[in-house]
Amino acid sequence: MRTSSIFLSCLFLIGCGGERVETQVSPGVEGVVSINFDDGFESAFVNGMPIIDAAGLKTTQFIITQRLGLVSYISASQMLAMRANGHEIAAHTRTHPHLSTLTDAQQHDEIDGSLQDLRLNWGINATVFAYPYGDYNDTTLASIRAEGFSGARTTSGGLNDSDSQALLLKCFIIDDYENNDINRITQAIDDAQAHGTWLILLFHRVDEPGNPISISHEIIQQTVDHLVEKKTEVVTISSGLARYGLKP
Ligand SMILES: [Zn+2]
Repeated sequence: MRTSSIFLSCLFLIGCGGERVETQVSPGVEGVVSINFDDGFESAFVNGMPIIDAAGLKTTQFIITQRLGLVSYISASQMLAMRANGHEIAAHTRTHPHLSTLTDAQQHDEIDGSLQDLRLNWGINATVFAYPYGDYNDTTLASIRAEGFSGARTTSGGLNDSDSQALLLKCFIIDDYENNDINRITQAIDDAQAHGTWLILLFHRVDEPGNPISISHEIIQQTVDHLVEKKTEVVTISSGLARYGLKP
């Protein structure tokens, strides 16, 4: 009798505890970070991804589908290897044009075509998109909606939260041209965590000195070390969208 009453009390406490935990991790209370790589550069795969994989963090990779296998870009098998490691594979057009300069039909071919390339060639159903150069117009947004993407990322600087627009996510670009100071990066991570916002870190190339969109692997290592040390939750873009309840 006594045992069963203790058992029931425990069940009740577990129930209450579970609800409290859910409240603590609700959107807006504790921030999250996403790690994005745009374009599918081989230098990022070779010099950056091993650091991220060693820490068990999951990234979102925005792939230019018709550049797979070209010089300085990853191969399809490298893309599939990242997918097998739990990284999210996302769409970044077929050929990386300035979308706003294209006709409606050309934009459709770039956006829908990249989805079809991923789906038909490699069985990947991409659900998020990034605008090349952060460039888009009303036709682009309509096309992204029509294709059923759950979200899309710009190259505009800023943080995201539950009031953000799912098709206009902002980010924090890290390269030798903009933010190559680890202190600025760790400050941005700490601010996001403290204020319950969603920080998207955007990388391109890794260890290509002289290239303005490259960053050293040391910066990636220091960023990863900080995320791990601060126990910052790292999410893919599709997980972040769900976390903050964002819909197109
Ligand atoms: Zn790009």
